[in-house]
Amino acid sequence: MKSHLRSAIPLFIALGVTILFNVVLIGWWGFWVIFPWIGGWVTVGNIMAKFKKGKKKDFGRRLSILMISPVFLVFLGLLQRENLQLEQCVFYIAAGLFTRVLIHYAIAKILGPLIWGRGFCGWACWTAAFLEWLPIKENNPVPKKYTYIRYPVLLISILIPALFIQMGYDYYNLHIAGDTGAALQLHKFHQLIWFLTGNGIYYLTAIPFAFAFKKKRAFCKIACPVSLVMKLQTRIALIKRKPTGEKCTECGSCNKNCPMDIDVMSYLKNRKKVTSTECILCDMCVNVCPEKAIK
Ligand code: SF4
Ligand code: SF4
Ligand code: SF4
Repeated sequence: MKSHLRSAIPLFIALGVTILFNVVLIGWWGFWVIFPWIGGWVTVGNIMAKFKKGKKKDFGRRLSILMISPVFLVFLGLLQRENLQLEQCVFYIAAGLFTRVLIHYAIAKILGPLIWGRGFCGWACWTAAFLEWLPIKENNPVPKKYTYIRYPVLLISILIPALFIQMGYDYYNLHIAGDTGAALQLHKFHQLIWFLTGNGIYYLTAIPFAFAFKKKRAFCKIACPVSLVMKLQTRIALIKRKPTGEKCTECGSCNKNCPMDIDVMSYLKNRKKVTSTECILCDMCVNVCPEKAIK
């Protein structure tokens, strides 16, 4: 019972965050959909993992990440017409507008990672949600040289909206005017185009990458600019995988199965926490360790 309560911590946190945003700060009903849904499914994933063994424990997490994705893609993206991609953030910041998109970024990608590192990548990212279910058995490491591609991609993600603004794309007035009638429709149409284009590019890149590199999360390692936004905070994050004190027999299973190519064994050997900024807290290393040497 105690361990089930521990599994439900994400749901309790989600309810706390909902009350904070809905009742205290912003007062938008949609928070009652978003946060409890996310926290609820992470809790379901945690509990399901308890009833499986080894690699199969990952089923719960993969189900969670898949079930969480409609909140971002359907509820926020298609129904609310909020594009949570990085480019949209640049538009809002440049226009001096504080919106739900920026709240998402603050919680999932800027401040939240101080606590749960890249837990968003492991449990809630709507791009990875589908990558996790691709029929790819291998988990080949991505050559390090390719992982630097993310840096120019981040620059491009910032430069594209900056270029639009420079060319006279008046996002501020489009957003402000978009409160009524025809202006509202125009604003929603623009949001939809940015949403479909941004996400379309991600999926159309990420899926071929996964097959080409024989690794489901090749896109995360090579091209995703968002991974860089979370790196610094992840280094000092509160939650990290760490040694339990049990003896590691150096079987290599944790390294082989880590979706982010982390040398988990080297941390364990030195009795250190996994401080790699690539860790997405997926728990695969914990699940596959026959000696229970990681927690
Ligand atoms: S690295 Fe990017 S695509 Fe991969 S899980 Fe994180 S945010 Fe999603
Ligand atoms: S170190 Fe463990 S928890 Fe972190 S990404 Fe690798 S397998 Fe997942
Ligand atoms: S899976 Fe466990 S025993 Fe095997 S190398 Fe990793 S930490 Fe050591």
